[in-house]
Amino acid sequence: MMIAVDGPSAAGKGTLARGIARALGYHFLDTGSLYRAVGLMMIRHGKALEDADSAAHFAATLDVDKIADHELRNERVAEAASRISAYPQVRKNLLEFQRAFARKAPGAVLDGRDIGTVVCPDADLKFFVTAATDVRARRRFDELRGQGVATTYEAVLADVMARDERDATRTTAPTAMADDAIMIDTSELTAEEVLKAVLEVVKDARG
Ligand code: C5P
Repeated sequence: MMIAVDGPSAAGKGTLARGIARALGYHFLDTGSLYRAVGLMMIRHGKALEDADSAAHFAATLDVDKIADHELRNERVAEAASRISAYPQVRKNLLEFQRAFARKAPGAVLDGRDIGTVVCPDADLKFFVTAATDVRARRRFDELRGQGVATTYEAVLADVMARDERDATRTTAPTAMADDAIMIDTSELTAEEVLKAVLEVVKDARG
């Protein structure tokens, strides 16, 4: 079974997708980490984020096993990821890896922005996870504070809004809800409540 989880940043889709995969014993892919890894390579090699050719090259030659998670999880890398992810050739170069991953047995859960619309339009189940902007910014702010990052709620809110706007309005594969996706608003739900509700839907779908 192939399950797609899409939505804007800090909506809780990563936590949900990971939870589904764990509960079902499926493979899990956080596709944002691929774009983050390309963004990180651009920063490390001192490339301008406008340099689409270099970004496409890093996407084509990405060694996904070599990317340590903690290096990808900062706002500078997130911003770079959002910028380079708008380049069609970057997206194209990461597509086959994602599609092959999605076909893994016994099943796979992928989270991102365009999984249900572009990467796996034929996924068995699609969820679009969202939450009010201020709730998402508050969650991201708490997460960053928890990591000891000095920032303000206002700065995080501005970052979240800028990134969402860019991701939702780019020409190639913008953040979008597939017509056959189930929308989940997590604004007033805990991660446990969301997972429980979604696992019920998955159970029904598996019959
Ligand atoms: O989900 P995460 O915040 O890690 O994603 C980082 C960036 O990667 C997003 O802001 C978005 O620009 C890009 N991305 C994308 N398509 C995906 C996953 C992430 O364009 N499927």
